[in-house]
Amino acid sequence: MFNLILFGPPGAGKGTQAVKIAKKYNWIHVSTGDILRAEVSQGSPLGLQVKAVMEAGHLVSDELLIEIMKSVFLKHEEAEGFVFDGFPRTLKQAEELDKLLVGLNHPVNQVISLEVNEDELVTRLLKRAMEQGRVDDTEEVIKNRLVQYHKHTKPLQLYYQEQGIYTEVHGVGGIDDIFESLCRAIRI
Ligand code: ADP
Repeated sequence: MFNLILFGPPGAGKGTQAVKIAKKYNWIHVSTGDILRAEVSQGSPLGLQVKAVMEAGHLVSDELLIEIMKSVFLKHEEAEGFVFDGFPRTLKQAEELDKLLVGLNHPVNQVISLEVNEDELVTRLLKRAMEQGRVDDTEEVIKNRLVQYHKHTKPLQLYYQEQGIYTEVHGVGGIDDIFESLCRAIRI
């Protein structure tokens, strides 16, 4: 089993690339953003709980995310690997993920960060707002999500660098070129 975390700010292209990676290596793509959005659109109790938080660009609680991850692992006991997209986003989530994976006997193998400069990120997120109408893609909420990223998520870089499993890949250019760079960086 291989556990890959795709790391990087909102708008870095993690979702696009995670789908391609999961397909190529036959791994399960875990997007916590997609999971949460599905709950919101179904109007489930969990969805009702997180809707306002997501719309404001804030982070959903660690406790909820950890429950979600536990159910992901239960659902995919036979998985050959996972590509995590949008998780972990806090140190607490990273530590809990490690605990869950140690329990499964398969630690995080690699963390690859998609490097994209801030101007490009904002441009991409505003474009996505026009195309997909995501309620958390307004200019103010985008700023908020970037602030949350720098405050809570970016520090995880050090956590994974200290474990010697962190790599960076340039995330600007054609989707297929970036995908190739990612595949070259993956050390199975
Ligand atoms: P993006 O990567 O474009 O910021 P996502 O689709 O990954 O967006 O996530 C959308 C929203 O879902 C986040 O702004 C946050 O409110 C919530 N969310 C997703 N994953 C997490 C997580 N691991 N921890 C806390 N909140 C999360």
